Amino acid sequence: MSLRNLPKFRHTLAFRLTLWYAGIFTLSSCIAFLFFYFLITSVIRERTDRDLSEQAGRFSTLLSLNGIDEVKRFAIIEAQAAGERKIFFRLLSPRGEVFSSSNMSYWRDIGIEREAIQKLVQGKRVVFDTIVLPERQHKVRILYGVIGSNVILQLGQSMENYSRVTEAFKRIFVTTMAFLLVVAAFIGWFMARQALSGVGELTRTASHISSGGSLEERVPANPRGDEIALLATTFNQMLDRIQNLVMGIKEMSDNIAHDLKSPVTRIRGIAEVTLTTETTLDDYKRMAASTIEECDRLLDMINTMLVISEAEAGIGRLKQEKVDLAEVIQNACELFYPLAEDKGITLGCHVPGTFTLLGDTRLIQRMIANLLDNAIKYTSRDGSVEVTVQEEGDKSFAVFVKDTGIGISAKDLPHIFERFYRGDPSRPHTGNGLGLSLAQAIAKAHGGKIDVASSPGQGSTFTITLPRSPSLT
Ligand code: ADP
Repeated sequence: MSLRNLPKFRHTLAFRLTLWYAGIFTLSSCIAFLFFYFLITSVIRERTDRDLSEQAGRFSTLLSLNGIDEVKRFAIIEAQAAGERKIFFRLLSPRGEVFSSSNMSYWRDIGIEREAIQKLVQGKRVVFDTIVLPERQHKVRILYGVIGSNVILQLGQSMENYSRVTEAFKRIFVTTMAFLLVVAAFIGWFMARQALSGVGELTRTASHISSGGSLEERVPANPRGDEIALLATTFNQMLDRIQNLVMGIKEMSDNIAHDLKSPVTRIRGIAEVTLTTETTLDDYKRMAASTIEECDRLLDMINTMLVISEAEAGIGRLKQEKVDLAEVIQNACELFYPLAEDKGITLGCHVPGTFTLLGDTRLIQRMIANLLDNAIKYTSRDGSVEVTVQEEGDKSFAVFVKDTGIGISAKDLPHIFERFYRGDPSRPHTGNGLGLSLAQAIAKAHGGKIDVASSPGQGSTFTITLPRSPSLT
């Protein structure tokens, strides 16, 4: 992906995270505000209702002690003292007729709630009501109460002061929210950018590499140790592996080119010499024989490489047949007895019993044959080669191929399983440096491995470990 193809701003994760953060912040603030708003308004209403009830109680006591005229007088004085725009009262008959009231010029829009009177007549002591006067912005809380026989009190109180409190609360909330929302968006943006900063580095590195940059580029180490740092480390490890594979492929193709070049050059040389010198039919026959021999060597190398890639394709591509390791080793030994005898080497195969595992008989036999071939090849006259097998726990088997040959130097030891690698002392012997690579690829394909222990001049022991069933490992 090139940098030009980066997602549009509104599609970025940072933008969406910021939006989520700001959204959740706003929602939770609104819920908190609503909670406090309802708490405040209900506290205010309760307080107002308590005040109104206490006032009604006083009217009731006065009526029972001093009579209705004293109540009328007291009510007017109370209304004037509190402010005629703050409270008002009406004294009503049970039919709702007004027979006394405070100065109602400010409250003339407020009528009498028939339903409330009805409820009182039916036996309720007090009824509360809230009225909103459209031309005035605030509410009025009204109490209807029976204060004596046939006397109903309508007592109203303006909630203007309380409305101011709630209005101020709303205003403060809106301004604070607007400010906090901007701050929250900034904080959200900052946090999202911080959290995703490693992703940017990752994208930049991947983008450089994919647009032709060097495979040696790596995402800078992130000391935070979080998930993004882990992703970066994993990404770098993946790049290491890809780089190793690419280098391996390059090295291999160089080696293939080099190793194919020698026999082809030899074939060409033989043909050229034959053509440019005076030659008999026998010379031509010799040339043909040498050409066939070189071609066979080439074919052998190509076939071996094909088997290596077949084995490296992995367990899934292998045959999963029952293999008796003892029988396979015995068969391989049978093939090599004549060669060992010719070289004056004692070849011993000690494989009593059966050692059954799941795998590809043909490949396992080839792997053991390669090790036997090397053991005999790199052991001189009067030496010995021994093959043994034993169970390793209840899950695997170990096959040992031990020789008393030339051994492997510490310098060669780490490289002998590489393709086309040949140790210096082995140069005089035939070979193409693919035998051990193939053996190792086969062992790995079966979920196993090959180890080697060797001392120069004393001999080597190759140990193949194979699981009974590849899937068990
Ligand atoms: P080659 O065709 O050269 O035998 P291999 O891949 O089979 O290729 O082996 C790689 C190298 O490992 C050999 O060139 C040789 O140096 C060394 N080697 C392998 N097996 C033995 C052995 N049994 N004893 C001594 N050296 C060995």
